[in-house]
Amino acid sequence: MELRAVKGMNDILPDEAARWQRLEQAFREHVARYGYDEVRTPILEHTALFSRQIGETTDVVEKEMYSFARHGDELTVRPEGTAGAARAYVEHKVHTKEPVSRWSYLGPMFRGERPAKGRYRQFYQAGCELYGDAGPLADAEMIEMILSLLNQGLGIGNIEVRLNSLGAAGTRARYRDALVAYFTPMKDKLSEDSQRRLEKNPLRILDSKDPRDREASKGAPSILELLDEADAAHFAGVRRHLDALDVRYIVDPTLVRGLDYYTRTLFEFVTTSGDLGAQSTVVGGGRYDNMIEGLGGPSVPAIGFAMGIERLLTLMPGEVSRERPAVYVAPLSDACTSRALVLGRDLRARGVRVEVDGRGGRLKAMLRRADALGAKFCVILGDGELERGVASVKDLAGHKQDEVPLADAADVLAARARAEASPPPGEAR
Ligand code: ATP
Ligand code: MG
Repeated sequence: MELRAVKGMNDILPDEAARWQRLEQAFREHVARYGYDEVRTPILEHTALFSRQIGETTDVVEKEMYSFARHGDELTVRPEGTAGAARAYVEHKVHTKEPVSRWSYLGPMFRGERPAKGRYRQFYQAGCELYGDAGPLADAEMIEMILSLLNQGLGIGNIEVRLNSLGAAGTRARYRDALVAYFTPMKDKLSEDSQRRLEKNPLRILDSKDPRDREASKGAPSILELLDEADAAHFAGVRRHLDALDVRYIVDPTLVRGLDYYTRTLFEFVTTSGDLGAQSTVVGGGRYDNMIEGLGGPSVPAIGFAMGIERLLTLMPGEVSRERPAVYVAPLSDACTSRALVLGRDLRARGVRVEVDGRGGRLKAMLRRADALGAKFCVILGDGELERGVASVKDLAGHKQDEVPLADAADVLAARARAEASPPPGEAR
């Protein structure tokens, strides 16, 4: 039997990984300017963490989680990053150490969905969580941070920001009633899932991708009319700050998103390029002011977002190639291989990327390999060179060749490699 990767899970081979690294580096550098530092939490968490925080009647919890029992624990491979980070925040009593925390993360998430372009069962998210700041400034700053990352950091245009407010728990309850009243007369026209959830969690109908639900949702009531004064003032503040930052957005009063933990501000970044079809949402986020308390912590407000790395990579322009070796070392006989290894080691200690050809054989094949890799220099070490105590250095681009004393070879080559000023890492070549 031919063994293949699990359906919906992808290999990222080194040629592709260069693009990933470019994106990841841009993310880290960008959010660092806003004060975010990385947190790493386990891939496995107790199932109850997700079922309680994300919500029992969401698609993620009802259908998509990879859950299993082992050694007496009910475990789930994380479908998202917010719940685990919040759990860690509470567990380590982070609020006692600092009033405001800004955390970022990047890593694989797992959801058993039907695979499509931009929809996988193992996929990667990068995201941020901000704890301890309830004001609308935090919301607006986060949205601006994401937009400038996509536009300037990654060169992705054609992005629309969609914005809504869910208000507090009381508003949600009133909105729920309004939605039940609205959808009940057309219950037969809804998808089976939505019919089932109509009473329990009608907000989910608004987030459904089923065309029947989408059609039925068109005239749905707006939650914005139900906001209480404080929630409305918060939302107005977010909008005012976004206007000041020149961030354009569309208020979408039926935006609810697929996770139940949100309160107040909710946002999505959607590509209008058409490249991703039903997978056009590239970033999702919002406030979740009740989660920390719900996990047994103090009352600490929070806001966060997650972006889908695969989807962003589809939209990120430009080629990113793998790094090339500066020096390729070609030992031409058994007697020369040890000396070649030593030269390789000494060059690497000087910060140079080096590959030593250990295959043996003819110079021609080694030069071909050095060319194919895009090496700048090929160092040829044959018996003749060894006897004379030199190395032949071929400048592959300049088509020049000279000899360097073996004793100085590492210093000389390292200097030459540096002189060939390589562009900063991550930049397209
Ligand atoms: P969608 O509506 O596309 O299913 P979602 O609302 O379930 O997305 P979130 O849970 O908010 O998504 O995750 C944030 C981002 O992570 C999404 O906007 C998307 O870019 C990405 N994402 C979510 N699920 C997947 C997946 N199965 N494969 C690839 N990327 C995903
Ligand atoms: Mg989803």
